[in-house]
Amino acid sequence: MKHIIILGDGMADWPVKSLGNKTLLQYAKTPYMNMLAKMGRTGMLKTVADGFHPGSEVANMSVMGYNLPKVYEGRGPLEAASIGVDLKEGEMAMRCNLVCIDGDILKNHSSGHISTEDADILIKYLQENLGDERVRFYTGVAYRHLLVIKGGNKNIDCTPPHDVPLKPFRPLMVKAQTQEAEETARLINDLILKSQELLRNHPLNLKRMAEGKDPANSIWPWSPGYRPKMEPLSVTFPSIKKGAVISAVDLINGIGYYAGLRRIQVEGATGLYDTNYENKVAAALEALKTDDFVYLHIEASDEAGHEGDVDLKLLTIENLDSRAVGPIYEAVKDWTEPVAIAVLPDHPTPCELRTHTNEPIPFLIWYPGIEPDGVQTYDEFACQEGGYGVMKEDEFIKEFLK
Ligand SMILES: [Zn+2]
Repeated sequence: MKHIIILGDGMADWPVKSLGNKTLLQYAKTPYMNMLAKMGRTGMLKTVADGFHPGSEVANMSVMGYNLPKVYEGRGPLEAASIGVDLKEGEMAMRCNLVCIDGDILKNHSSGHISTEDADILIKYLQENLGDERVRFYTGVAYRHLLVIKGGNKNIDCTPPHDVPLKPFRPLMVKAQTQEAEETARLINDLILKSQELLRNHPLNLKRMAEGKDPANSIWPWSPGYRPKMEPLSVTFPSIKKGAVISAVDLINGIGYYAGLRRIQVEGATGLYDTNYENKVAAALEALKTDDFVYLHIEASDEAGHEGDVDLKLLTIENLDSRAVGPIYEAVKDWTEPVAIAVLPDHPTPCELRTHTNEPIPFLIWYPGIEPDGVQTYDEFACQEGGYGVMKEDEFIKEFLK
């Protein structure tokens, strides 16, 4: 049997008043997900281990069954892998957002969803002016970039910028947890302030502002770590000899890299609601012909949740159903070699909260011949009655790949 996980990032939500107290998964038209839930089996999965923040990297690593306390090294090292930066011993990598500061306020974590092309100009400018023997900046995707510090001490408290929209930024700057880490914290805070000086009047930002766009006028480094010690999935699950990952998001591709999955780059994959579902699905189906496992990650609903935009998030959920889950099911349902399909988010991103929560998420598993568990729809409440109950750690991936 072959296996595909279709992951709608941040898709789970809370009941919404304007939707008659339904969640978005309950309210959206999702005939394919409902059908697969009805024909398959469902459950809830705890994707955020105790003591961990509900980040997408934490939750996606959990979905693949990785033991977070053992292997977690933060986002930086994952994103480094995805852009081909091979971390050496003692090198600390950090996710480095390009954010928009308005006065003393952190206006948003994405500089108004800056394009990779615009961001690349600014990151290269920062590398020229702030980069040295110890400090290096690398361009990633959109607002998500990389800072590598040789000899950095990772015992520092950093704030994920998407958790603190519209808050004053100064109290949220990096703090050392130990005396040894103080030099690293000072270095990073110094880089943040210097980046603001450099970016404030950069021609690209002046042009962005003239066009009514948010300027990308500060870096915001967070989630530091060293190279993680992750086993490839093929070692843990010998039936998975070959696997692939399809995602527009650096950190998911980085998880894929350490998980031993080959990365498939898809034209038009943006990480937003306008992502090219059709190309992603075509690439996933092509990969399923040669590989045993495909991890298809679609970011759109998470971004809509961060925007707090209920209508947009409904659209992203309906798109996932009609433009990803549906076509994949229709294509593989009659293959000679059966294909198992799992659909799930990594974590909830409630529109009301505009950030992630650590609540267990609903999942469904379907493959030809699976015995249904009686659940009729795919949503946060129906799946609580599912046959798998509440799973944790590697229970979901073991069940799915068994
Ligand atoms: Zn998110």
